[in-house]
Amino acid sequence: MDKNEADKLVEKLKGCGAKEVMEFLFGAFGVKAAIASSLGAEDQVLTCMAAGINRYFRIFTLDTGRLPQETYDVMQETIEKYRISYSVSFPEAGDVEKMENKYGPNLFYESVENRKMCCGVRKVKPLKKALSGISVWITGLRREQAATRGNLEIIEWDEGNNMIKANPLALWSEKQVWDYIKKNNVPYNKLHDKGYPSIGCAPCTRAIKAGEDIRAGRWWWETPEQKECGLHVKDGKLVKSKARDSRE
Ligand code: SF4
Repeated sequence: MDKNEADKLVEKLKGCGAKEVMEFLFGAFGVKAAIASSLGAEDQVLTCMAAGINRYFRIFTLDTGRLPQETYDVMQETIEKYRISYSVSFPEAGDVEKMENKYGPNLFYESVENRKMCCGVRKVKPLKKALSGISVWITGLRREQAATRGNLEIIEWDEGNNMIKANPLALWSEKQVWDYIKKNNVPYNKLHDKGYPSIGCAPCTRAIKAGEDIRAGRWWWETPEQKECGLHVKDGKLVKSKARDSRE
């Protein structure tokens, strides 16, 4: 698979809806196509759609070891409702042990470098591991989530990971996501009802107050331009996210 083939897919899938895109990808790539889920609202929409196609689709998630209980709850609920299995990618125990022994359990509050180190150990490295052997990475990214995602395509070539990145919900609005969830009774993280628009690890996520930026609850002790963890990179640059996006 290379960029040319990805470009052909862009043409082929032009005008297709989210479910049609996934139907095609699962049909053409089988378990070489995988949903990357962080149990966020968009990921839950994709999971529900995929389960309606074939419940043996491939879906993986990263368990950083610091997730809120509510995230495990929605994962369990999703497993039971759709009778699916997640492939869970964990950080290397040795990496975590070394990091915590040297910097302590709450290192992320001490400096941006420490926080990025923790994201590197607990998220970026496990993501690389989870993506190995996969040809198509399916994400719940949407254009509306950030100015930097304004050109997001439903099918893209991911240069950094050398694979196709599919974003079936690229053109969806936040309202469409939540309408779908309500209409289809899709399990969702209950922290969304408690003022958490964006959910990541427990020590790095808090509820926001009325009027605050929707990203204000993530790494709230850092300035906005520092709030990245390195999961989504495009053209050599980090893709900043906004809205209800917990894939980081
Ligand atoms: S979000 Fe916080 S706890 Fe989670 S990996 Fe990043 S720094 Fe570590």
